[in-house]
Amino acid sequence: MKSAFVMFANLMAQCRFGLFLLAFFCFFGVLNASPGDSDPIYKSCVEQCEKTGCVGNKCFQHCNFSSDGNHIDGPWYLQEPLYMRWKQWDCRSDCRYQCMLSREEDRLKLGYKPTKYHGRWPFRRIYGIQEPVSVALSALNLAVQFHGWVSFFILVNYKLPFRPNKTTYYDYTGLWHLYAIFAMNTWFWSAVFHSRDVELTEKLDYSSAVALLGFSLILATIRAFNVRSEASRVMIAAPIIAFTTTHLLYLNFYQFDYGLNMIVCTAMGTLQLILWAVWAGVTRHPSRLKLWVVVFGGAVSMLLEIYDFPPFWGLVDAHALFHATMIPLTYLWWSFARDDSEFRTSMLIKKTK
Ligand SMILES: [Zn+2]
Repeated sequence: MKSAFVMFANLMAQCRFGLFLLAFFCFFGVLNASPGDSDPIYKSCVEQCEKTGCVGNKCFQHCNFSSDGNHIDGPWYLQEPLYMRWKQWDCRSDCRYQCMLSREEDRLKLGYKPTKYHGRWPFRRIYGIQEPVSVALSALNLAVQFHGWVSFFILVNYKLPFRPNKTTYYDYTGLWHLYAIFAMNTWFWSAVFHSRDVELTEKLDYSSAVALLGFSLILATIRAFNVRSEASRVMIAAPIIAFTTTHLLYLNFYQFDYGLNMIVCTAMGTLQLILWAVWAGVTRHPSRLKLWVVVFGGAVSMLLEIYDFPPFWGLVDAHALFHATMIPLTYLWWSFARDDSEFRTSMLIKKTK
């Protein structure tokens, strides 16, 4: 009796684990159809390539599956080791890339404009990196964020005076530190995602960006309204955190909806731009000009995210340009943060004297 129970419990546990894995890999299977990948010539090219491992006279080592060749049937965790699954993914990715290149070549000869495949423009890979320009610009953004953060850190911790209780006079130090972590995390995953676009890296990139937008909205609200009491800060942060978390859960575990995500991100972005713009308009802050430039530049870069055009030379698309605009803006942004900490500190010291 007892052993039957144990067996049942084991079975249940295995089932649950299986279900968990299944769910985990099912949401990786989200595909967004684009005109390019519904093209019958492209489709049959990919199908053919996944069977033979070759497109024309170009063949891929990842496409050498096990000899029995039944890798596509049945749940993978029951019959094949994990690396086979990876191989299959790599094979599919290589096939899609090669078929896309040959299809685009033919289309160009016929006088057609580039079209999207699986939600992406036809990019040219360099050393196996899918979007080399976006990767390089993400890495630069990460470097600029890091530089900005370190310079801010040195200023508030080593150059500006402390309060008698050994904390900074500037009330927003912690918020800027958190902002730096969110921002650097976003640029890191952005670089990873643009070098290798699979469902996991895509989710990490999009989720980090949503988290950053949510946090910077909190920062904008708290700074613009000069909210200093802990209780009011919690009142502001809680609904934004709740909203952002709900959206992240929806994206990752229910439906990866590009359209909805675009709306949510645009709304959060616009809201904080408006907040900063209005504040820059009414405040007598000595660095309000920097704020104006960042707001204006931010609006332009947001337009680049919304207005999508095919890549020049298969390398530079609107999104890459968006990454490029963020570099000077980030530099200016941290410069504003440093100015703000100096300005607030000197003001508070004057007040206490
Ligand atoms: Zn990006």
